[in-house]
Amino acid sequence: MVEKFFPDEIVDKVQDIDLGKLWNKGIKGLLLDIDNTLVPSYMKEADNSAIKWIKEAKNRGFKLCIVSNAAKRRVEKFNERIKLNAIYRALKPMSGSFRRAVALMGLKPGETATIGDQVFTDIYGGKRLGIYTILVKPLHKKESLFVRLKRYPERYILKKYYEAIKKGKSNR
Ligand SMILES: [Mg+2]
Repeated sequence: MVEKFFPDEIVDKVQDIDLGKLWNKGIKGLLLDIDNTLVPSYMKEADNSAIKWIKEAKNRGFKLCIVSNAAKRRVEKFNERIKLNAIYRALKPMSGSFRRAVALMGLKPGETATIGDQVFTDIYGGKRLGIYTILVKPLHKKESLFVRLKRYPERYILKKYYEAIKKGKSNR
């Protein structure tokens, strides 16, 4: 039953997401992780590459909402320049914050995608609600012990994922 952890897509970084394709799938809202997804976890503010990408997504018509497990201060500092809807201490993978974010955007789960760097929080949490899931590679190696521990089973999931793709049995 590793399939329940499989992302719908894996890309290196958010800039590699095909936003046009996503829009054509009927996705209108994006739930965004911050740490190691939009910026490295040591970076306090949104940098130019994150801001540029966020602007592009907005220009294409996407609604955006930050859904982060980080503390209020971290999320607010990051959000200072971009001023998106934001949920902090989201307790991902629990579904409450995903539901709230989807409701904030006025959309249905099936019209949204979650974008994050962790299988057991960003991906698993989104999938359970029928949200489209996109896994990015973590931007930086420096991670908390708790996150590092989760990377071991995560590697196992991703190994299975790539095996399934090879066999043409992925859930895409
Ligand atoms: Mg993250």
